[in-house]
Amino acid sequence: MSTVGLPPEIDLDALSPGEWRWSGRIPGEWLGRLSKAVHTLAWAEAEVQILRDHGAPRIRGHAGAALGLVCERCLKPFETEIAVEFEGRGVAVLTHTENAGEAIEEIELVGDRLDLRELLEDELMLAMPVVPRHEDEHCDGGHRSFGPEVAPAEKISPFSALESVRSRKRETDD
Ligand SMILES: [Zn+2]
Repeated sequence: MSTVGLPPEIDLDALSPGEWRWSGRIPGEWLGRLSKAVHTLAWAEAEVQILRDHGAPRIRGHAGAALGLVCERCLKPFETEIAVEFEGRGVAVLTHTENAGEAIEEIELVGDRLDLRELLEDELMLAMPVVPRHEDEHCDGGHRSFGPEVAPAEKISPFSALESVRSRKRETDD
């Protein structure tokens, strides 16, 4: 069954066996943490699919968002889109096993419910660039050395320097 619109949480116990699907825009109020971490949030959307059979529910989907970030190199805002795919097995308690052979992640449920708000925001947060910055050709800060940002010394034009000499001279003339 396919539904337009994303519910904030999904009661997995209430789903009859089969494949369920929801898609739509992610409401801005679900994304409080993400909104604080970015300059602007233009839109976010997701599709979530749940496969319900006899075993643990399989949850998979994808999410994307258009963000305005501030370039760490030139400190100017820029726009970018992020996208993430996720797939997991709904579990009551995460086992935290580091099993390389286990390709599928665990997604923690709250009782029998999947907290879709939290899942989608977590996934989008993880998809954010660690160091936000322009593609090189769009960035005018590429030649700066890394390390502590030092504000460039204000360039003084020879004319304004001359002007200040003149005004000083005028003061002493008086
Ligand atoms: Zn830049």
